Amino acid sequence: MRRAAGRQLSRVVRDTFVCSCRSVSGAAAVPPVRKNDLPRQLSEVIKTMGPLNVAAYMRQCLVNPTDGYYTQQNVFGSKGDFVTSPEISQMFGELVGIWFLTEWMAMGKPAEINIVELGPGKGTLLDDLLRASAKFKPYLGAVREIHLLEASDKLREVQRQRLCGDDEAFDKKDDQLWYAKSKYGPQVVWHADIGSIPSDLNRPFLLAHEFFDAMPIHAFEKTSHGWRELLVDIKDSPAVVPAGPSPAASNAEPEFHLTLANKPTPHSMSLTKSSRYDKLEPPSRIEISPESQSVANKIASLIQGKDGRPGGTSLIIDYGPSDTIPIDTLRGIRAHKIVSPFETPGMVDLSVDVDFVGIAEEIKKFDGLKVHGPVQQGDWLHKLGIGARATVLAQNARTEDRRKMIEGEYKRLVESGAMGKVYKVMAITAEPRESVGFT
Ligand code: SAH
Repeated sequence: MRRAAGRQLSRVVRDTFVCSCRSVSGAAAVPPVRKNDLPRQLSEVIKTMGPLNVAAYMRQCLVNPTDGYYTQQNVFGSKGDFVTSPEISQMFGELVGIWFLTEWMAMGKPAEINIVELGPGKGTLLDDLLRASAKFKPYLGAVREIHLLEASDKLREVQRQRLCGDDEAFDKKDDQLWYAKSKYGPQVVWHADIGSIPSDLNRPFLLAHEFFDAMPIHAFEKTSHGWRELLVDIKDSPAVVPAGPSPAASNAEPEFHLTLANKPTPHSMSLTKSSRYDKLEPPSRIEISPESQSVANKIASLIQGKDGRPGGTSLIIDYGPSDTIPIDTLRGIRAHKIVSPFETPGMVDLSVDVDFVGIAEEIKKFDGLKVHGPVQQGDWLHKLGIGARATVLAQNARTEDRRKMIEGEYKRLVESGAMGKVYKVMAITAEPRESVGFT
């Protein structure tokens, strides 16, 4: 039955589900699809090609051009599915801005830097950072360009409004590269693919906040026969679903679940080779993100600086363990609650714990780069001065309610039971010196 679908469908399917989504958004071979059509598309693919690896499933759920979560949903804020630190309080972006300012000073106040942000969301973090920086004119004056990596056209629009204002329209070179002038002066360039961020930027100041947790992972289980990959399959085996188009069958929403491959896959043979996984006993389950490794690789090559080009600095903030391997962490998030990652694909945020050790290992392959941390977000924010900033904001609050709100936001960002402990901060610098917040 799987073979019957023919070669052409297989090719379209392979191109759509295996390549980066953005690169196929303009492909004529992909027919237009209805909204929220992802479950049906996924089930077609699985019936045709067999179960999907978790990375392919995640990529489709998050950034499928027509039905992905980030490309289609209203994801942020109290009415969305989750709230991120910059959406909780302006203090977060301001202090990240202060960290970059201290890096600029430690570098001897260079005349040119370039800001790069991966996954800017609503643009709030960058806007708060730039607003705080505007008080230090020589520093803001040193920012040549701002490069943003964003897969979602809808979020690009939100970011443009935030950073450039309503009057500034996009100048679209093609469906991937968009430009607009920020209200702070420097030009903003939007990229769909990390590979198009210029590799010869002077002193990139790179930021990735809650970006790595959206990077697709492969999941594996150690069995008595060796590593086996976990795959996403349709819940009712295709063999027992009536083959003919009956009204009941065509209306039923397909459901998905994880299954264990019964033989090695190319990924289970290649990705599990690191000595980090040798000591684990069956039935341990691990998650490995080759995409995160390649993003880490790109960050390292961007900020390394070579052939006379000055190096930069970078900050990664996300949740995950600081010294262990992420195990079984794939989860769905909907309306501020954890749900099954296989429930209503495309309508639910998917996220995983970030493998900071894996990122650091990748960075250490590059000469001259220094990894700082990861340290807990609460500790880092305290060292950057969040206590004093919260006090000033609270003292200036017009009402008692507003004062209490600021206190609540501060606690949410720093306390162990909230975001202070589980979120980690890691920096990578091209110079082998200490960095504020990490010592
Ligand atoms: N940093 C923001 C948003 C985090 S949500 C904040 O802290 O509020 C993740 C962001 O990454 C979103 O902007 C999403 O559209 C973007 N994103 C996720 N996967 C991506 C991918 N593969 N390529 C480009 N952008 C991606």
